[in-house]
This record gives sequence, C-alpha cells and structure tokens, in this order.
Amino acid sequence: MAKPVVAIVGRPNVGKSTIFNRIVGERVSIVEDVPGVTRDRIYSPAEWLTHEFNVIDTGGIDIGDEPFLEQIRQQAEIAIQEADVIIFITSGREGVTSADEMVAKILYRSKKPVVLAVNKVDNPEMRTQIYDFYALGFGDPFPISGAHGLGLGDLLDAVVKHFPEKADEEYGEDVIKFCFIGRPNVGKSSLFNAILGEERVIVSDIEGTTRDAVDTVYTYEDQTYVMIDTAGMRKKGKVYENTEKYSVLRALRAIERSDVVCVVLNGEEGIREQDKRIAGYAHEAGRGVIIVVNKWDAVQKDEKTMNQFTQKIRDHFQFLDYAPVIYVSAKTKKRLDQLFPLLKTVSENHAMRVKSSVLNEVITDAVAMNPTPTDKGRRLKIFYATQVSVKPPTIVVFVNDPELMHFSYERFLENRIRDAFGFTGTPIHIIARARK
Ligand code: GDP
Ligand code: GDP
Repeated sequence: MAKPVVAIVGRPNVGKSTIFNRIVGERVSIVEDVPGVTRDRIYSPAEWLTHEFNVIDTGGIDIGDEPFLEQIRQQAEIAIQEADVIIFITSGREGVTSADEMVAKILYRSKKPVVLAVNKVDNPEMRTQIYDFYALGFGDPFPISGAHGLGLGDLLDAVVKHFPEKADEEYGEDVIKFCFIGRPNVGKSSLFNAILGEERVIVSDIEGTTRDAVDTVYTYEDQTYVMIDTAGMRKKGKVYENTEKYSVLRALRAIERSDVVCVVLNGEEGIREQDKRIAGYAHEAGRGVIIVVNKWDAVQKDEKTMNQFTQKIRDHFQFLDYAPVIYVSAKTKKRLDQLFPLLKTVSENHAMRVKSSVLNEVITDAVAMNPTPTDKGRRLKIFYATQVSVKPPTIVVFVNDPELMHFSYERFLENRIRDAFGFTGTPIHIIARARK
C-alpha cells in the first residue's frame, strides 16, 4: 500500500524539475475543472519497470525569504525526512560547486540512500567530466541528460535497488485510515484533539510501524481508526513546516495513505478558492471524501442556514457531489460523534464490490429508461459491465465504441448505479472499453 518515496535534491538550475518531469512523464488530470490541481507539481506518482513510487521535487518547495543556501539546506532536510531514496542532482556543465558540497554534507549525515546524478551530460564526450564528482562521496555518479532523456534508465535502476524488499503491511484490512485536510486555521488540529478527547475513544499505545510515526491509532465502538497527520497538526517546529508547498506535500502524502479524507471547511469564514484546490486533491486521488464544516458553533444561524451552506458547497464543489457534509464544532464537540459512523460507511462504500449480475440488471434498466446516445447515425451499444477493482470502485463497461459514451450518459449511468447501490462518499470510476 505505502509506496516508496524518492526525493530529488540539488542546488537551483541543475535540472531538478526537468528530471522530475522526465521521471513522472505525462499525466492527465481527471478533474479538469479544478484550477491548479496539476500545475506547479512537486509530488507525483511514477513508475519504473515493475516498481511504483512517488517522487518529490524539493526544488519546488520555496521557503519564503530565506537566503539561497538556507533554502537549499532546508530542501535537503525535507528530502531526508520524507524520502526512502534521494536523487542528488549536480551539473556536469558547472562541475562541483560549493553549494553541491554543502548539500553533500547534509545528505551524508542522514542514513538515507543517495544516488548521485550528474546532469547536462548531453553527449558522450562530456562523460569524462563526471570523475570530479566522485569527490562528493556517494560512489559512482550517473551521467544523465534531462534535456535529451539520456541515462535515466540506469539512474532509476540504481534508485529502485534501494527500495525496501516488501512494503510493510502497515495496518490490518479492517482498520479505517483517514485524515483531515484543509486550509490553515480551519480547525484540523482542534478536530484531531477533540476526537482524542471523546469519552468513548480509546487511544492505542501501539505506535504505527510507519516511518512517519505520526499516526494516531484509536478504537471507538470496536472499530479501529488511524488518524494520519498532516502538516502542522502537532507543534510547529522547522521553518519550512509553515510554508504552503510543504503543507500541500504533507496533505498529498496523507491523502495517499488514507481510505477516507475529511475536507475541513471553516463554517465561520465560508468557502475560499484554496478550499476547492485542496478538495480537488482528495477527489483526484480516488479516496472516500467527507466534507466537514467546522466552527459551526460560531455561526449566526437559523433553520435555513445549514441548507444554504450545503447548497453553496454543492455549487462550489460539483466534482464532490457524492461527498456527505457534516456540521461540527471542535470547540463544543457538537455532532462530532456523527463523524465515526460516517467514516465507517464511507470507508465500506469505498471498498464495496457489487455483483456483475446485479450491476448488469441496473444498467439494462437504465438503458430502457433513457436510450443510449447516437452520433452521426451510430448508436452506443452496451454489452456488459463488471466491477474490476475497489478503492475506489471501478467499473468497466464494454461497448461497441467508447467514443460514443458521452460524458453526460456516463454521468447518467453513474447516478443510476449510485441509486441502486448507495455509494455515498466514494467516487466511482467508469471506464468504457471496446469489446473485441
Ligand atoms: P532546477 O532549478 O534544478 O529545477 O532546474 P531546471 O529543471 O529548471 O533546469 C534549469 C535549466 O537547465 C533549464 O534552462 C533547463 O532547460 C536546463 N537543463 C535541464 N536539464 C538539462 C540537460 O540535461 N542539459 C542541458 N544542456 N540543459 C538542461
Ligand atoms: P488548523 O490550522 O486547521 O489545524 O486549525 P487549528 O485547529 O489550529 O484552529 C485554528 C483556530 O480556530 C484556533 O484558534 C482554534 O481555537 C479555533 N477553532 C478550531 N475549531 C473551532 C471550533 O469548532 N469553533 C470555534 N469557535 N473555534 C475553533
């Protein structure tokens, strides 16, 4: 489940983001209407041969107004903290610089495996320039060219060799992993603490086996939950922990490890553009989603206020129309106990499997009610549908021509499937595939 994390470090202009993009390749966003979801990427899934992992471009984490060397130093620290393997990038054009030596010293103190790459080695004649880089003390330097895509295979072969043999099974199957994400000050850490303070919550002493060691395990009515930490949930320490990019990175990592993501909104302040972006991450990752409106105690309200706020949420977060909304207060703990059964329901729906026979009945009925669309005289034909995976539920629909499956018809089918099976809180992926 937990994929290894690879971090790219190095001084500015050596080619970190170029290499990051090479490793990650082209990935298409599934939420086109959420601005900024894929722009400015610093964290992304990637694969090499049979290995799946995540890559961080630490160069994309700008650390406020800190001086140049301080920025590089903190980026290297983030790499050490977050990664299983570090790719240290230098440049064959400039040779070894004092900034490279500083990065080397920081990396050297950590126990994380480091693979040294010399970038901008654009042609074979330049290969002789890599020998100086042995002096950095990380063994054989790998000559690469991000611009031309050279040497990356050898580099990645060396990287994946350092991956742990088998990812440890972090927690059992029936444990519900979740996190709170949201803008600063919406009340994430207050919710975290309020849950731990609930009367029937029994916090487990057993530390998670995860390297982060920031998971909080507890039981409530015989169900075990794991709360996964995001940036700033605990005491703030390092300077970089207050930067936005670092918070985003931590949120993305928490989302990835969670079954259910609670998107926290500030009921007092209302919805902001940043909320939308954050919610988009949860949706894109295919996790179960609950929208938690916090600070409801501080809202001036009458009997219409809640419905009006829910309507605003539905207007702003159209891509999350499946997500239930709850109104809570971390301060007074009002309705906080409703979060537990909701987490359970959403988590079950996220992992739900439906029988093909029943699924096909639902689709046959749907088609009878609303005939399939036609395009230039050709009609979409649906032959058969089957659920191919869970978390999130993914359904493949075999058709005569996938081009004929219009977005609106897919939406219609999705709604019929939701009506029939009740997939509250989880996205459903529907894939139209041509039957051979
Ligand atoms: P970063 O600051 O470390 O992320 O570096 P960038 O990826 O932004 O690259 C800095 C500059 O180096 C850009 O102008 C790139 O086009 C250039 N560059 C990156 N990789 C190569 C390479 O392999 N060869 C050459 N000649 N230039 C490169
Ligand atoms: P985070 O940055 O999202 O972790 O937010 P915090 O948990 O640190 O909360 C930010 C501020 O909002 C603090 O001053 C909290 O006391 C306050 N706060 C959090 N939850 C509530 C709530 O339910 N009601 C009210 N009135 N204030 C809250």
